[in-house]
Amino acid sequence: MSMKRKLKIIYFLTNIIIVLTTIILCFYYKEPKINLFGDKLVTIELNTEYKEPGYKATYLTKDITHLIEIEQNIDTKKVGIYIVTYKLNYKNKDYVKTRTVKVIDSTSPVINLLGSGTIEICPNQNYNEQGFNAFDEYDGDITSKVETQVENDSVQYYVEDSSNNKTLQERKIIRKDADNPTISLKGYQNLTMYVNDTYFEAGYEAIDNCDGDITNNVEINGSIDTTKSGKYTLTYTIKDSSGNIASTTRTINILEEPNFDQKTIYLTFDDGPSNTTEKILDILKEENVKATFFVINADIKYDKLIKRAHDEGHTIGLHSYSHKYKSIYKSEEAYFNDLNLISKKVEKITGEKSTIIRFPGGSSNTISKISRGLMTKLSIKTKEKGYIYFDWNIASSDTTRISSNKIIKNVTKQLGIYQTNVVLMHDFKNNNKTVNALRDIIQYGKENGYKFDKITEMTPQIKHKIKN
Ligand code: ZN
Repeated sequence: MSMKRKLKIIYFLTNIIIVLTTIILCFYYKEPKINLFGDKLVTIELNTEYKEPGYKATYLTKDITHLIEIEQNIDTKKVGIYIVTYKLNYKNKDYVKTRTVKVIDSTSPVINLLGSGTIEICPNQNYNEQGFNAFDEYDGDITSKVETQVENDSVQYYVEDSSNNKTLQERKIIRKDADNPTISLKGYQNLTMYVNDTYFEAGYEAIDNCDGDITNNVEINGSIDTTKSGKYTLTYTIKDSSGNIASTTRTINILEEPNFDQKTIYLTFDDGPSNTTEKILDILKEENVKATFFVINADIKYDKLIKRAHDEGHTIGLHSYSHKYKSIYKSEEAYFNDLNLISKKVEKITGEKSTIIRFPGGSSNTISKISRGLMTKLSIKTKEKGYIYFDWNIASSDTTRISSNKIIKNVTKQLGIYQTNVVLMHDFKNNNKTVNALRDIIQYGKENGYKFDKITEMTPQIKHKIKN
């Protein structure tokens, strides 16, 4: 072998050794690979589950994923940054990769307004906070962090949670006064007095929901001439600062001085109308005598007799709608409910509001004691409402089982004691004894110089002594 050939072989072998050594060294120092799937930074919402996107470990072509150990302490209930560590120990060497997980809170807090979302207040009034609270899914009750700002037509509520999520709420303010003031009169709403009496203004009061007591702004319109009889009306008007108006009226009825010179008989008939009423009206017509009927709510077919009595110039007085003492006298309210019913009925039939009333059983009745002091109250309240009540001073006792002759005697023997004679009789159904006594009573009166008249507002008021 030549020297040249020997050198060639040595060179070739040396190269092979270098290459083999390199390959061996390469294999020997090759590191295993850890591959993470998905993003290196994962963001999840609070309270949602963290799902591992996956990973793989290889050494050369060998799958060694099972050797990976994962370490993590993600608390999905807590906002924060967490590290997931993927550890691989291979051939006594540690290999590590990490992934970052951010748990975030992106839910805005909620502001709850107490009271209405739109609030109406007086134009001159300061807004009074109606209350609120604020809750955040993560921070809990953050009411104390709410900032409020009151503007002329709204209130702004602002809050931010610890993750800077913001919430703005608004309450609307409407400034207006939609309510009318109230005005009330002191003293009688309806007043009856005689010519040349002095009128005293009893006063009034006006209150407004926004302005308070505005009595001083009340305007009175109308005038009274106390030297002339007639019906006068005073109008009391009040306007609040928003232009809302309220008004009320007082009626003053000024009467001529009554003439007490001649002795007068006032025939009165209670508890009608009925078939008796018709016969009584016929007699009164023939005798040209005017009388007074204190009516109740009777059979509808007799309503035309109320109309006839009214048209023939008699007075229609109000007695009662139900005529049931026990329910009428239960209370002041019960009494006036009943009175209003008969009042409306009579007004509908005659076209006139009657102001003459007679209490069932008279003002001296004791049935009303079921409500203590009721008659005392009613005697005042009826007057305030513009009514005049009349009792009687001559009882015919025609509700008892007596003859016509006895009725005549009962009446005529009492006449002459008084200047004003108010005779109580009844025109309930089939009361023929009264019908039969009537003409004789009228005859007696005429023959003895009496005048017959109907009761009016000018008739001297005959009143019993109140016992309750
Ligand atoms: Zn009666």
